[in-house]
Amino acid sequence: MQIASKLFNIKSSLPENVTLVAVSKTKPVADLLEAYNAGQRIFGENKIQEMTEKHAAMPKDIEWHMIGHVQTNKVKVMAEYVSLIHGVDSLKLLSEINKQAAKHNRIIECLLQIWIATEETKFGLSETELHELLQILQNDANNFNNINVVGLMGMASYTSNREQIKTEFDNLKRIFDVCKSTKSKNINFTILSMGMSDDYSIAIDSGSTMIRVGSGIFGNRN
Ligand SMILES: *Cc1c(COP(=O)(O)O)cnc(C)c1O
Repeated sequence: MQIASKLFNIKSSLPENVTLVAVSKTKPVADLLEAYNAGQRIFGENKIQEMTEKHAAMPKDIEWHMIGHVQTNKVKVMAEYVSLIHGVDSLKLLSEINKQAAKHNRIIECLLQIWIATEETKFGLSETELHELLQILQNDANNFNNINVVGLMGMASYTSNREQIKTEFDNLKRIFDVCKSTKSKNINFTILSMGMSDDYSIAIDSGSTMIRVGSGIFGNRN
C-alpha cells in the first residue's frame, strides 16, 4: 500500500501537463505491480536487460522508457517494445535506433540528453553538439524515417544548492525553447524530461513536462 499512497500523493500534486515516469530500476516486479494496480502505466528503467525481463513479466499496456545510458549494441534487445529512449547522446546511437526500429516497422521516440550539470561524470550533448545533430537530422531526414526526436532530457548536478539546480534546469528549458521551432518529420519537440525525486518540484517550476521519480515512489535503492 505504501507505493500506492506515495504515487497518489505525487500525482495529485502535479500540474496537468506533467507526465510521471515511475523509475523502477532494481525493484522487484511485485513493487511494479503495486504501482500498476494503483494506475501507473509508464515505467522507467536504466538497464536494457532488466527492462526487457520486466516487460515480459508485466501487463502489456505499459509504456517502457529507457532512462539510462544506452550502449549501441544493446538497442536491438528493446527495439520491439520500447516507447521512449531518454538518454540519446550521439548520431551513432540515433542511427542504430533507426535501423533497429525499421526492422520492427516502428518509429521509436527519442529524447536527446543535454549535459547541464557541472559534474564531469554525467552524460550528454553540449548545446553546440545538439544543434549540429538536429541539423543533420533535418538535412538527412530520409535516412532517419524510423525515429522521432520529441524533446530533451537532462539531469541537474548532485548538490544541495537549490539555486544552482534551478539555474541548470532554467538553462535546459531555454535550450528546449530554442529547438522547439526546429521542425522536420523526425523532429517534433514536445517533451522536456527533467526532475527526479529530490528536485522535481524545481524542475516543474522551470518548465519540465516529464519527471522521472524512483525512490520517491518505491523507496531507497540498495
Ligand atoms: C535513477 C534515475 C532517476 C530516479 O532517481 P530518484 O532519485 O530515485 O528519483 C531518474 N532519472 C535517471 C536518469 C535515473 O537514472
